[in-house]
Amino acid sequence: MNKVAIVTGASRGIGKEIAKMLANEGIQVIANYNKSEEKALKLKKDLEEQGKLIDIFKADVSKQEECESLVKYTLEKYNKIDILINNAGIDQYKLITEVTKQDWEDMLNTNLYSAFCMCQQVLPNMIHNKSGRIINISSIWGIVGASQEIVYSITKAGLDALTKSLAKEVGPSNIKVNSIAPGLIDTDMNKDLTEDEVKYVIDQTPLERIGKPQDIAKCIKWLIEDDFTTGQIISINGGWIIT
Ligand code: NAD
Repeated sequence: MNKVAIVTGASRGIGKEIAKMLANEGIQVIANYNKSEEKALKLKKDLEEQGKLIDIFKADVSKQEECESLVKYTLEKYNKIDILINNAGIDQYKLITEVTKQDWEDMLNTNLYSAFCMCQQVLPNMIHNKSGRIINISSIWGIVGASQEIVYSITKAGLDALTKSLAKEVGPSNIKVNSIAPGLIDTDMNKDLTEDEVKYVIDQTPLERIGKPQDIAKCIKWLIEDDFTTGQIISINGGWIIT
């Protein structure tokens, strides 16, 4: 039977590339999107034309009831969930003194509560099947911290703590939980960076480039096949930051 995977925030960027890679592996993908219906429909059409197994589902994963709907839909239609990729995220550049309570709540709910809630929803099925893979897309900033991205960094550090704790809790049920902590990846999230800012990062990076969404998808491809890696935070950043 085909494996079933949910990818959150999959209409563009890293999530879209992960969805494409999983579908190319013969996995039934449920690509979640929040607002970008047109992009999600295009992804579905493109992959279906190639004979891949792709479905899309609209849900704001910062909200408990919408995480519940996404998982309920998947289980009713496909009976199981083998892989969960918690990818949805937002970023914000502000000094700590400018961050509002609303900013804090939006960032925490979108980047951290969403992953926690999705784990809560998928785990009963994974535990029943004694099999599962959960991969959280965190960030290098969760490891080393980023000026003016304090709340973002907090949410990503929280994701890594979720990864480590959950790996211990559900390892005996044969469920592997890992984080991928990307460095600078060429997506819409970084569209406001200037050429000089990108060059500055490239100059500091041993592999002399920034990342592509495909670099993250390749690591996921390895992680969903590997059998003895859990609770790990894997930094994919061309050697830009080596901890
Ligand atoms: P992106 O902005 O292109 O993609 C983020 C996706 O998340 C979008 O499709 C967006 O619609 C979706 N999303 C946001 N809020 C959502 C919600 N409430 N419900 C459902 N979907 C929602 O950026 P990206 O670079 O592809 O980011 C993907 C992940 O990678 C994020 O978690 C981001 O923090 C992380 N990341 C990115 C970089 C980078 O340099 N691009 C570096 C480290 C980590």
